[in-house]
Amino acid sequence: MPRSVVTGGAGFLGSHLCERLLAEGHTVVAVDNLLTGSRDNLKAFRRDPKFMFLKQDVTEELKIPGKVDYILHFASPASPVDYAKYGIQTLKVNALGTHKTLGLAKAKKARYLLASTSEVYGDPEVHPQPETYWGHVNPIGARSVYDEGKRFAEALAMAYHHQHGMDVRIARIHNTYGRSMRLDDGRVIPNFIGQAMRGEPLTVYGDGSQTRSFCYVDDLIEGIARLLTVERVEGPVNLGNPDERTIADLAAIIQRLMGKDVGIVHRPLPPDDPRVRCPDITKARTVLGWEPKVSLEEGLRRTIESYKTREKGSNR
Ligand code: UDP
Repeated sequence: MPRSVVTGGAGFLGSHLCERLLAEGHTVVAVDNLLTGSRDNLKAFRRDPKFMFLKQDVTEELKIPGKVDYILHFASPASPVDYAKYGIQTLKVNALGTHKTLGLAKAKKARYLLASTSEVYGDPEVHPQPETYWGHVNPIGARSVYDEGKRFAEALAMAYHHQHGMDVRIARIHNTYGRSMRLDDGRVIPNFIGQAMRGEPLTVYGDGSQTRSFCYVDDLIEGIARLLTVERVEGPVNLGNPDERTIADLAAIIQRLMGKDVGIVHRPLPPDDPRVRCPDITKARTVLGWEPKVSLEEGLRRTIESYKTREKGSNR
């Protein structure tokens, strides 16, 4: 039975990942300091005897007794609102936390998977973005704590691969949404759904012509599972849905799906907000045989339903 450590295990993606690995028969140790994660995300499998939760900051020394086969480093604030608030913690978890978890993987001879991000491309000048694009990042801007943190994490993971011959995988995760993302997370989809539920106009930043490409969480987790288990892969792999939409379109779709004509209000565009973003997923298609299956409309329907159910008292 494989044994996996998931850092950020109480977060949005981390908790989905724990659930998936448990379903595949893994024993799972989730580590989280609960800065932006929540125990509520663990409820569905908290009592599974194959599951263990450690409330711990992974920037401190990480001791996990026994064998470990896989380490998945998913700890980090990931919403622009969260990482603006917790800038130092974001840099620390991606620098010191990546160092600690790589050290643990080396000691345990475990395979290592790093949750990286489309933000390594910054405000891209190449569109769509293939993994070979080096990016366009403001090193001291509003997003730099996350962007540079993840770029450093990728560099460190590759250094462990080159110097120690470690088996390292890097997922460049593009905008993902779905069940159990906090409604107050600050990202655009929970913001819009929450606003429509409360009958408030949707806050579109800037003129709404900026684009994002949204991937439903189940598709993303399938991509991660394949990246973890594929026999060989060199360098980072984009995981995301190439279905690119403007934020203004997204606002219209959410109102339509929710049957709420709440309208929109414009707010200032946050500094360094990328103008466009769309993954080139040729590598994921070729190496993993993976591509997203859930359309934006279907994914949003499921997500809206999950938030409504949660309103009635269920957490997941
Ligand atoms: N956005 C928006 N209204 C909101 C929240 C976000 O218009 O209430 C925009 C934001 O400016 C960005 C896009 O939606 O252009 C996606 O933002 P998000 O915070 O979800 O993540 P990002 O992709 O920027 O990291």
